Amino acid sequence: MTTSAPGSKFPNLAGLPDLPDFAARARELDANDPLAGYRELFVGTDTPLGYLDGNSLGRPLKRTAEEINRFIHEAWGGRLIRGWDEEWLELPEAIGGQLGRAVLGAAAGQTVIADSTTVVLYKIVRAALAAVKDPRRTEILLDTDNFPTDRYLVEGIAEELRLTLRWIDADPASGVTEGQVREAAGPATAVVLLSHVAYRSGYLADMRGITAAAHEAGALMVWDLCHSAGSVELAVDECDVDFAAGCTYKYLNGGPGSPAFAYVNRRHLPDLHQPIWGWMGRRDAFEMCPGYEPAEGIRRFLSGTPAIFGMIAMKGTLDLIEEAGMGPIRAKATKLTEFAFELHDALLAPLGVEPATPRNPELRGSHVTLNHPSFRDVTAALWDLDVIPDFRAPHGIRIGLSPLSTSFSEVLHGVAAIREQLLQRLSVEG
Ligand SMILES: *Cc1c(COP(=O)(O)O)cnc(C)c1O
Repeated sequence: MTTSAPGSKFPNLAGLPDLPDFAARARELDANDPLAGYRELFVGTDTPLGYLDGNSLGRPLKRTAEEINRFIHEAWGGRLIRGWDEEWLELPEAIGGQLGRAVLGAAAGQTVIADSTTVVLYKIVRAALAAVKDPRRTEILLDTDNFPTDRYLVEGIAEELRLTLRWIDADPASGVTEGQVREAAGPATAVVLLSHVAYRSGYLADMRGITAAAHEAGALMVWDLCHSAGSVELAVDECDVDFAAGCTYKYLNGGPGSPAFAYVNRRHLPDLHQPIWGWMGRRDAFEMCPGYEPAEGIRRFLSGTPAIFGMIAMKGTLDLIEEAGMGPIRAKATKLTEFAFELHDALLAPLGVEPATPRNPELRGSHVTLNHPSFRDVTAALWDLDVIPDFRAPHGIRIGLSPLSTSFSEVLHGVAAIREQLLQRLSVEG
């Protein structure tokens, strides 16, 4: 049975007299959270629903509803095709530039919004391979626990170009280390493709060390930043990253299917040779001239007509990130995952749950994965109860903590609900 503590809409932990008063602790953490005020800017945060999957699909901002409405009535409905010349054609570079500055640590002119992460990564890996001039470099280095689309698209490129894939066997409860990259990269390596925050374990790879290791082996480094953008501080310029990509519908709240971002280090731009030659990436696109000639700068990364709708929502979050700063956002992310671990240790570990995320906060992003054989069932039951974590096969619950929209009380609500579901199952078995 669930009872509610006075003043709290979340379940109390009745029947656990020896445990600390976690509800009071969550309230105190919320009261002392300098970013707490951002939560109410998101749709749905005033309902009892517990959302622990903002790293798969971020919540919308309330202002996005107004902005989309205004866009339809004024920009699209009012300006019609004039909108392209007046603003929209420049948005991929304008919003890309803001994302680079606010989120990636990238100087102007190297980031653009385009396509989906899958397509952007395909174009980037092909561009990176084209930039490697040495014909003896015939291998792409990646890891077995990389996100499926990353593995598949590189398998396709290897088949297309008759290249070899070299796989690092990553520990599913952590991720790829600099030592593993140093050992695996060599004179045959052309490109290294890794995820910075592992989608399953949350492991935070050493961007600086691994990029340096790839360069020392003579290879180019491509980072997938899907679970990093908006959750950890990034310094792609400072780490001398060659290429990076990521999605905008996770911590950047761009909405389902919002377009991806691409970062190309400026030293690669003059010769950047990406494989999808479309009119939007051509010099003087609207002259409609014969033959393809790439545009100057990062614009040459574009292929087709940009997805303007999908850029409206991410702009709202980028504004908030510029205001709050990635330093304080990362600090809150760390506190949230620490609280999730604290709750796990007290409430879930005694029931046989085991973490599959590094305990050292410096080695993880903003999500925590917990394993238990019942978690497939438990997740389905939780979704019906409006408590929404993610499930990752074979038996992981992934608790994604989006720093601007998640409260500490929400984390407690989620973990308490997981405990309740486990207890119900144990009492049925016992
Ligand atoms: C979410 C995610 C993607 C998604 O790619 P799409 O093309 O947007 O479907 C790719 N890589 C990683 C690591 C992800 O977490």
